[in-house]
Amino acid sequence: MRISIAAHAKINLTLDVVGKLPNGYHELCMVMQSVSLHDMLSLETGTDAGIVLRCNVKEIPCDEHNLVYKAIRAFYEASGIPESGVSVAIEKRIPVMAGLAGGSTDAAAVIRALDFVHNTRFSEAELQKIGLTVGADVPFCISGGTMLARGVGEVLSPLSPMPDCTILLVKPGFPVSTPYVFAALDRMEITHRPDTAAMAAALSEGSLSGIAGALYNVMEGVTAAEHPEIGEIKRQLLEYGALGAVMSGSGPTVFGIFADKSAAHAAYTALLPRYQSVHLCRPSPANGTGDFLTSTAALR
Ligand code: ATP
Repeated sequence: MRISIAAHAKINLTLDVVGKLPNGYHELCMVMQSVSLHDMLSLETGTDAGIVLRCNVKEIPCDEHNLVYKAIRAFYEASGIPESGVSVAIEKRIPVMAGLAGGSTDAAAVIRALDFVHNTRFSEAELQKIGLTVGADVPFCISGGTMLARGVGEVLSPLSPMPDCTILLVKPGFPVSTPYVFAALDRMEITHRPDTAAMAAALSEGSLSGIAGALYNVMEGVTAAEHPEIGEIKRQLLEYGALGAVMSGSGPTVFGIFADKSAAHAAYTALLPRYQSVHLCRPSPANGTGDFLTSTAALR
């Protein structure tokens, strides 16, 4: 069977590093939101040719280093079903290494797709558990929507959906290293933290201005200290009428939340020529069971 599935990017409405776990990983507390920007994956099973990946972006590895490859392995290991050849064509639209969980969401989409194709009917929690063996952001990407994420990101509780609005994502051209950001945070005392309860309350009230006012990411200060462009992008987004703006994940993508669509479009037009990658999108709801496009045609 051949199926197509959209793999949505995520943003962090809040991100806090609250401690260190006994295994040395950082303990996080984040409000995560899926957005309409997505990669498209076409998956075909029963090809008899092992795991074969293709991608339209040549920098992305198409071997066992791709998170999709790891996700396929993890699914067949967990299900006990013998793998009889899987081809996946990945059409990347989500900027890579951007703080938008591009790789994690592809992995999550493949796990959900294989569960559908093989009719294994794993529960959401079981799918998340398989996802966690691939990466910490994969469990959230399995479910999507609006979630409070704790632990390394795998302890998930749904929050009220984000009200509809326009979100402008702006990714500058410099790379950031997530381990560097964590190490820098370890060396400093975090003096200002997001008010996660205020964000959850703003979501349940459906207050866009409340959400905008509660946006905060403890990683932003570290990245912005090295790269003043982060502060510069935030300033421009606010100048163009964003209700609030913040960096997503370990960056470098900064996003602004707009109630006014035409202001967001004006910001898009102005920022597009200035930055490596600029996208307009909207909040996305949680993933449903029926959001696959199926076809028996061969993958070309
Ligand atoms: P996060 O927000 O979870 O930190 P990110 O958006 O910063 O993720 P990704 O786009 O997921 O970063 O890419 C991180 C690394 O993963 C890159 O070095 C990339 O080569 C590798 N990678 C492996 N598989 C994929 C994939 N399917 N899509 C994108 N990157 C992938």
